[in-house]
Amino acid sequence: MDIKLAVVKGDGIGPEIVTEAEKVLDRIGELYGHTFVYTDILAGGCAIDATGVPLPEESVEIALQSDSVLLGAVGGPKWDGLPGSMRPEKALLGLRSKLGLFANVRPAKLYRALADACPLKPEISENGIDLVIVRELTGGLYFGERGRKDGGELGEVAFDELEYSKMEIERIGRVAFELARKRRKKVTSVDKANVIETSRLWRETMHALSKEYEDVEFEDMLVDNCAMQLVRNPAQFDVIVTENMFGDILSDEASMTTGSIGMLPSSSLGSTTRGMYEPIHGSAPDIAGQNKANPIATILSCAMMLRDSFDLTAEAVAIENAVAQVLNEGWRTSDIMDENGKLLGTREMGDKIIEYLK
Ligand code: ATP
Ligand code: MG
Repeated sequence: MDIKLAVVKGDGIGPEIVTEAEKVLDRIGELYGHTFVYTDILAGGCAIDATGVPLPEESVEIALQSDSVLLGAVGGPKWDGLPGSMRPEKALLGLRSKLGLFANVRPAKLYRALADACPLKPEISENGIDLVIVRELTGGLYFGERGRKDGGELGEVAFDELEYSKMEIERIGRVAFELARKRRKKVTSVDKANVIETSRLWRETMHALSKEYEDVEFEDMLVDNCAMQLVRNPAQFDVIVTENMFGDILSDEASMTTGSIGMLPSSSLGSTTRGMYEPIHGSAPDIAGQNKANPIATILSCAMMLRDSFDLTAEAVAIENAVAQVLNEGWRTSDIMDENGKLLGTREMGDKIIEYLK
């Protein structure tokens, strides 16, 4: 297969971790007969410095012509003082919207070798954590009407409108069911249908959709219960699908249960096979340029890309197995270092993973 990738190396540790991810992809290409062609595009802080805007038009055009987008990290203190529309994060929002990406997919997986980093009790973590949160990205409270008004005796009043259409719910639902089919075939739809009207439409729509996926086990759960279950018994979950704000909160909660932010990949998907893949961590300016950053989240983002955008399951598994093996053998970057760990830099971790690829 020939795969054209638009690559945002980005800011801070971005260029270092993306370089390792490209090395891993190139090795996969050699082993499995694929060619990866990378076109670097500017987005985020480095784009502001070079062109004056966080997301140049040319970057969008190249991304639209690519098969998928790989992103390191954008932003940093250098650009923190800029006004809203000029902030580096606008590049992410802009790319997602131009590419029609409406689903944010965040796996939370606990590696056996890193079980000590898990903040949950051993009797809970030993059952494993291997779940995915699918968060709706383009609707809900974050995009509703908002404003202030005079509440008379109450003083100033603020409001945020929460709206979801059946179309938006159905399309995010499909992403979740399709992903579940590639995993353990279970979907938990999370809402607050005992109180909120959008959640009642959410629940009706998900139930109707679940009839099209009889091979996938389906349940719904109230968001407050889900927040509790994530720390009480995360092993029960495979794919969790939920609206924008619930997903924002639950995905951070789920990440923290694994205890290693430098390990977690993510993707943004739409209704085509083109997605955007990136680590969940930020640009880590405090360690940029020191060969200290953990490249594993970015490397695992490539595994997600191979599976979800290109259906290259064996290749994805090869990367995930290599990562697990490297960890099992005690190789560590500084963020996941432990008593018996053997310390590696960013480049050396990339090399080590390649050594275990087969
Ligand atoms: P953002 O707002 O983009 O999420 P942030 O400053 O809140 O950025 P990060 O950039 O993720 O958060 O950094 C938080 C801490 O985690 C920093 O101390 C950073 O060094 C560390 N960190 C983040 N990613 C990695 C990584 N890949 N390897 C090692 N350490 C990391
Ligand atoms: Mg942050």
